[in-house]
Parts: sequence; C-alpha cells; structure tokens
Amino acid sequence: MAQDKIKALIGMNDILPSQTPVWRFLEAQVKATLDGFGYQEIRMPLVEQTSLFKRSVGEATDIVEKEMYTFERSERSLTLRPEGTASCVRACEEHQLIANNKRQRLWYMGPMFRYERPQKGRYRQFHQIGVETFGMASADIDAELIIMTHQLWQRLNIRDKVVLQLNTLGSSEARANFKAALVEFLVVRKDQLDEDSQRRLDTNPLRILDSKSPSTQALLNDAPEFMDYIDEESAQHFSELRALLDAVGVEYEINPRLVRGLDYYGKTVFEWVTNELGAQGTICAGGRYDGLVEQLGGKPTPAVGFAMGIERLILMLEAMDVIPAQVAKTLDVYLVSEGDVAVPAMKLATQLRDQLPKLRLQMHMGGGKFNKQMKKAVESGASFALVVNEEKLANGQVGVKPLLERGEQINLSLDNLTDWLAQNL
Ligand code: ATP
Ligand code: MG
Repeated sequence: MAQDKIKALIGMNDILPSQTPVWRFLEAQVKATLDGFGYQEIRMPLVEQTSLFKRSVGEATDIVEKEMYTFERSERSLTLRPEGTASCVRACEEHQLIANNKRQRLWYMGPMFRYERPQKGRYRQFHQIGVETFGMASADIDAELIIMTHQLWQRLNIRDKVVLQLNTLGSSEARANFKAALVEFLVVRKDQLDEDSQRRLDTNPLRILDSKSPSTQALLNDAPEFMDYIDEESAQHFSELRALLDAVGVEYEINPRLVRGLDYYGKTVFEWVTNELGAQGTICAGGRYDGLVEQLGGKPTPAVGFAMGIERLILMLEAMDVIPAQVAKTLDVYLVSEGDVAVPAMKLATQLRDQLPKLRLQMHMGGGKFNKQMKKAVESGASFALVVNEEKLANGQVGVKPLLERGEQINLSLDNLTDWLAQNL
C-alpha cells in the first residue's frame, strides 16, 4: 500500500538550492558590514530553559503568552529560542564576557521559533541576524548601531525604500508613571478598545500604543503623551542620539507610539520599516535594554541591540530586483571528457583545484555521449567547458570552450592552463 508522503510543518520552510545563493549574498554583505565595525560573532544553542525567556522577554508578551515551542525533557521545561537576546545575555554572563562592565560588540545569526499565524513575511521558523552590545551607556553606541544598519541598506541597494522610526521609552520610573496615566485614560474607555487591546489593558498596556486597530489608534489621539513623562536623563540621551544621527546624515521619523513587543526595552527604541512588504513591514528592530542583565541575575550592565529578519530582507531584495546577476552564478568551469580518459581527467581537476583554490570546477560524472555532456555544461551556468580527450592529451593539450558568450573552442597547452584560467575568470 502506498504511504502518504510526509511534508514539512506549516510555517517552517526549506531553503532550496535555487534560493541559497541569495541568502549567502545577504549573509556576506551583513558579515562584511559587521566586520567593518569590529563586531565579533557568538553562537548560542537553539534550546534553552523556558525560564530564561519567561524572565527576560516577559510573561505578558505575545511571545511568552502564546508563541513559544516548549516541551518537557528530563522533568525540565525547555524552549526553542524565540529570539536571541536572552540567550546572548545568558552566554555572556555564564562565560564572564561582560563582567565588570567589560565592553562587548557581538552578533549572531540563525533560526528562531515562534508559533505564529504563518503569512508572507511571518513564519514559525524564521532567521534573524542579531547584534548586541554591552557595557556602553552613552548614546554614541545607539547611534553606531543605527549607522551600521544604514550602511548595510546602502550596500544592499535598498536605502531608498526603508524609513527609520525612532522613539525613547525613558527610565523604568518614567514608564511606570506614564503607564499609570495611560491606563487611567483607557480604563474608562475600555469598551471602545479592540479585543486585543482590552486584554492588554491588564497585562501589557504600553503595547496598546502600537495596536493595528484604526479605532484604537483614533482613541489614542487624545491619550496622555509619553513626552510629558520622560525623565531628564533619558531626554538628554535621546537628544544626543539625534544629534549624532543628524551629524552623519541618517534621517529618521520620531514615532511616539513605537513601543516594541518585548518587556526589556528602555530609552532608545527603533525600527526600520518598508512599504514594499505589505503588513509585515519591519525588517529590523531594536533598542536599549539596560535593565535586562540585572533582571537575569547579573550586575547592572548597559546594553543596546537589534535584530533583523532575514526572510523579510530577502523578500525585499527580490521585490526590488537589486540582486546582482553574479549572485546566481556558482560555477566557473565544467569539465567534460571524451573516451576513456576518466583517470587523467580526475587528475587534471585535482591539480587545477590545488593550484587555483578559488576555482569553482565541476566534473561531469559517469561519462556518456559528448553532446549530452556539453548540454549539461551549458546548463550548469559555468563560464567555460574544459574538454579532455585522448588526442588532445597526447599533444599535451586540453580544449576550452566559452559557454556564456559565442566563441569557438580553443586548444590550450596543459602547461599554460592554470595561468590562462587565473587570467580569464
Ligand atoms: P512583529 O511586530 O513583526 O511581529 P516583533 O516585534 O515580534 O515583530 P522582534 O522580536 O523584534 O519582532 O524581531 C525582529 C525582527 O525579526 C522583526 O522586525 C522581523 O523582521 C523579524 N521577525 C519577527 N518575527 C518574525 C516571524 N515570525 N517571521 C519572520 N520574521 C520575523
Ligand atoms: Mg511578533
């Protein structure tokens, strides 16, 4: 009896060979940018104790309330990481990377897991590039992070299609005062709020500010404004950040309703937003979280970071048609052979790979008709076919045929082949 085929889980995507070149292109641009600013890579496990996320992300957030993949193993509650900041702080503490306010500029890249409703730009396994900095309280590091992302957009040719939204959430005391005023205003208007916001009124009232419901947004027009509650120090910090961004020409919009979904943010918050992706328009989001290290049992440590969604960035690169053509090219040379030359052909390929470490050479395997091999060579996207046969080898030669443009096959001496390839690729 035929068996049903097993399929991937909804919201968990395969990234196919036709797609990986674009992923690698994006990753290379990101790494070059991070290297250029002196950031170091850290790699954390994908699974952590559930309590790590409960204590950091916050019990009343969407992530902890309903989005985590949590399971039991050896009587412990474990969770597939829904984000990277908590794990990064845990790792830094555990290995004394940030003891005594030691400064760190770190990044990581990898899958995150959230049980969300899958749609364009929103998946259950998705990938983030995260950046976290520790030990620096002044606004210059907040500015550096934003300038770094700005440079990345330039490298990727999407600079014109993203807008920076900026806000400050002040000190925890300022936030608490504002929260109380906001709740007081909204409680008497509770029946006018959308359903989600009604629930959040008890659990996470600040999140109501970025409700997607137009009627809730209209109601908020008369609500208390955070700017009236902000503490002196945070206001100063915010104006220093703005002055630095102004000085280097990074434009921004102040969005007083930008609050971010996670509990641990204070002072600076920012999002890079695009109109190219419909509803899921935030491609990069972050902010300052000076309280988190202490909240997880460490010493008070200033920290600021961000995360970007790789899938959304890739959707954007594709939509805007800014992926350079050479990204799809994965081969330089396709080696075909006529007749009984399997051994010398394999030797030649090995020698070329040794001498030209960057050469991307694929050998046709299993022989077969010459014309069929040449057809594969053309399909491979390689720049040249190398043709090996007994007659040519007897003369110390090999055939070279250009595949991307018109051109006749030429014979090259085996002695010159390496130099010729080095010059012509
Ligand atoms: P959103 O409001 O879009 O749900 P968030 O506040 O939950 O975002 P963060 O936790 O700050 O997002 O994650 C940073 C970035 O990671 C987002 O701006 C987005 O680009 C990406 N991201 C978040 N959740 C998903 C997801 N489920 N699928 C794909 N990308 C995601
Ligand atoms: Mg979310």
